[in-house]
Amino acid sequence: MPHSPKPQFVFKRLRRLFGNATAYSGSEPTAFRILVGTVLSARTKDETTARVANELFKHYDSPEKLARAPLKRIEQLIRPIGFYRAKSRYIHALAQQLLRDFGGLVPDSMEALLSLPGVGRKTASCVLNYAFQKQAIAVDVHVHRIANWLGLVRTKTPEQTEAALKALYPQGQWRHLNNVFVLFGQNLCLPKTPKCGICVLNEVCPVRRQKTEIPLKARFLEGRAVFNQSWRVVGLD
Ligand code: SF4
Repeated sequence: MPHSPKPQFVFKRLRRLFGNATAYSGSEPTAFRILVGTVLSARTKDETTARVANELFKHYDSPEKLARAPLKRIEQLIRPIGFYRAKSRYIHALAQQLLRDFGGLVPDSMEALLSLPGVGRKTASCVLNYAFQKQAIAVDVHVHRIANWLGLVRTKTPEQTEAALKALYPQGQWRHLNNVFVLFGQNLCLPKTPKCGICVLNEVCPVRRQKTEIPLKARFLEGRAVFNQSWRVVGLD
């Protein structure tokens, strides 16, 4: 059984694998869209969230428009996602609070974001991270699962995972962690069928399902092919 991987080893391999690709899947990454999209994403598949959020933003793409929208209309638009009634109330009230307390702008501090309806630490961290490029670690299901699978942390809750990862990684790397772990979890280290045979972390993963004989460079290429992006291969070991 391999030992738990070193945090920097994991970080550097995943950064090299995904380069500058972003896990944000919506169109026009404004702070408002990132905030609302992340509230909608809880307990919902990533592709469903992206589709529904884009449909919602075709009609209501600002706090002003969303605050004025009839609640029933919001429910209709976001019905395909989980807990759509509660989430409709959250984003409606959230838009109204943005207008009332923040001049119609999304705030850029953890404390202010946590005062908004439906916003917990994960959502607030996503907004700080993706909208304002601030150092935060948003722990969603992918980050929590992969950090535990790799043996980086041994935690039961996302809050514990966030604290443990912050202790493991220097602050300058925090905002990249969510990005690379989410891309990895969506494309390769899938929850039910992880692609261990082509995984660039195979040799250091305590829970791998198979040992691979594929050389590292080929695994990088396979991984990138799965991710369906064009990549420039630089300095592979
Ligand atoms: S070896 Fe498998 S389980 Fe481990 S990180 Fe890679 S894809 Fe995930």
